[in-house]
Amino acid sequence: MTNVPELYGERVFNDEAMKKYLPKGTYKDLKQTIEDGKPLDLSIANVVAHAMKEWAIEHGATHYTHWFQPMTGITAEKHDSFISPVKGGGVIMEFSGKELIKGEPDASSFPSGGVRSVFEARGYTAWDPTSYAFIKDGSLCIPTAFCSYTGEALDKKTPLLRSMECINKQALRVLRALGDNETTRVNTTVGPEQEYFLIDKDVFDRRKDLIYCGRTLFGARPPKGQELDDHYFGSIKPRVAAFMKDLDEELWKYGILSKTKHNEVAPAQHEMAPIFDTTNIATDHNQLTMEVMKRVAEKHGLVCLLHEKPFAGVNGSGKHNNWSMSTNTGRNLLNPSKKPRENTEFLVFLAAVIRAVDEHQDLLRISVASAGNDHRLGASEAPPAIVSMYLGDDLTEVLRSVISGKEYVDDGKHIMETSVDILPNFTKDTSDRNRTSPFAFTGNKFEFRSVGSSENVACANFMINTMVADVLEDFADQLEGAEDVRAAAEALVKKTVQDHKRIIFNGNNYSEEWLVEAERRGLLNLRSLPEALPHYTSEKNIRLFEKHGVLSEKELRLRCDVLLEKYSKIINIEALTALDMAKKDIVPAVTAYIRELAETVSLVKSVDPDLVPVAQAELVKKLTNLLNCFVRKIDALDKAVVGAKDVADVAENAMYFKEQVLAAMQELRAVADEMEATMSAKAWPYPSYGAMLFSV
Ligand code: ADP
Ligand code: MG
Repeated sequence: MTNVPELYGERVFNDEAMKKYLPKGTYKDLKQTIEDGKPLDLSIANVVAHAMKEWAIEHGATHYTHWFQPMTGITAEKHDSFISPVKGGGVIMEFSGKELIKGEPDASSFPSGGVRSVFEARGYTAWDPTSYAFIKDGSLCIPTAFCSYTGEALDKKTPLLRSMECINKQALRVLRALGDNETTRVNTTVGPEQEYFLIDKDVFDRRKDLIYCGRTLFGARPPKGQELDDHYFGSIKPRVAAFMKDLDEELWKYGILSKTKHNEVAPAQHEMAPIFDTTNIATDHNQLTMEVMKRVAEKHGLVCLLHEKPFAGVNGSGKHNNWSMSTNTGRNLLNPSKKPRENTEFLVFLAAVIRAVDEHQDLLRISVASAGNDHRLGASEAPPAIVSMYLGDDLTEVLRSVISGKEYVDDGKHIMETSVDILPNFTKDTSDRNRTSPFAFTGNKFEFRSVGSSENVACANFMINTMVADVLEDFADQLEGAEDVRAAAEALVKKTVQDHKRIIFNGNNYSEEWLVEAERRGLLNLRSLPEALPHYTSEKNIRLFEKHGVLSEKELRLRCDVLLEKYSKIINIEALTALDMAKKDIVPAVTAYIRELAETVSLVKSVDPDLVPVAQAELVKKLTNLLNCFVRKIDALDKAVVGAKDVADVAENAMYFKEQVLAAMQELRAVADEMEATMSAKAWPYPSYGAMLFSV
């Protein structure tokens, strides 16, 4: 029997461990730093470092590492042992406050958009005391921020921490203006639901595209996909269940609140949802979750695919970023309560989010832009690239009453009646679900559904935090001076909703009509990363991030360049992989199969010259024509890849990769898939879609 409370957090230097290992005074100082952001001095850091080391060694650690999140999207670590030589030979185990606070990895090989040249490679990592240190593989991992020698953020955590400060500041001002004198801190909270695929390791190992790119570049459609909806919430197969059990236990040991698990829509697709936490911790935990998922899968002879679109023709994977704001006094600021129409505080914060989403549609789109996610957004399985919000009928009615000034009549439909006597009646949420909306209100939080499954959620969240903070600042300016603050707030909500109601859409986001309607409303439709990214460095966005101290213009430009470069690099790798598979495996396999068929034709004729092997001869003809076409497409893709070298500008280069290279890859794939569908399974060099999706 697993004793969950006992194993929960056993690898974490959490509050309980701190209490046990730290002197009382140091514990109090550290707590103040964690809770109120009070700076920590070196003498305290020394005491903390010593205690951490003692705890870590007792738990089997020999090394420590600063654990950070460079712009590669994954986490980075460089391990140092605790050993320190002593005179006369031997070693002791040491760890100083300085080593805890600051690290100095060589930064030259991390993406930086040209901020540092290789000769000035110095970069620093700085301890983030708000996120607990933990032990992984015998190393004490210390969550850190990462910046350049000249102070530019080179990671995903730094802007997130900055954005949490700025939204705290502005939200507190609004709360004060509305008469709340108790709250001293407003945190943003996030619960990221993580989708993933699990496939058999043996099958994975035979697919170069999965190995190099994380997604299939070829593959004919299997006879069955997800059309029966029989996988979603279906009973979990034993091998997957064993993986999930192990995953839960591992995550709990790291203090990650893994809560919900289920099968998702596509075959072989699953989901894990944790209990929400403050944005910074939720982000660190999600990064760790993705790593743990991959490792646990290996242990079970499986591979966990986190790519946004591993398989064409079935759903891709996302990460639903559930977001809200809460006070240190325990109030969720997006909780409508029983009477939302009378809840001024709720309406003000709701209005702020509505305006922020409308004014910064571009940023939300950019925050989820990646080569992988481009395959998913707008593919009728994930929200479209057009950003809009779903509020549900009840809240929309509430807002209508704010605008019209007419009384809000509660339609009283909140009791769920099943019409079956033995089933209990219960109250419903104030909003239904809308699975097609990119930014849906789901009862007491917003669910940003466009985030890609492999992405670091820091990006989406620092943008949401900053844009909401910006609106809250303006709201605070207006409310602080008001004589009758209730009346001012009511007027503010009314004007905001009136001005920004175009962003609210409760209908089907997958429909053709919405595309037309959204255009009529003047909403942005940035279909791909190369179309979206140029908006990142617009004057509006530079002003926004600089004003709130979240990103300087230089940092913003470097981030934009890193994202564009990464996009081009990914598609380049995919194109080279496709060419490798095409030339080295597919062409030889099809050639051999044609030969086999052609030989059969002669053999049959040699038995009896009157026998006409029509079937084989037709196949030879069909496959030969397809193969000729395939070779022409290989040539075209080869040329497209070479041509990219002539496009120097990063933004133009990314666009070139989308329009020329990706397009040529798709044409190549279409021919390959037709050949696969025509040939014998044995003659095809790779495991089929059926084998990948239905083998576990
Ligand atoms: P769904 O029906 O959308 O799949 P789940 O229960 O799987 O719902 O996931 C909901 C997620 O929202 C969970 O991770 C949950 O912890 C998170 N969540 C709930 N309340 C909040 C909140 N106030 N702030 C942020 N996230 C929240
Ligand atoms: Mg969900």
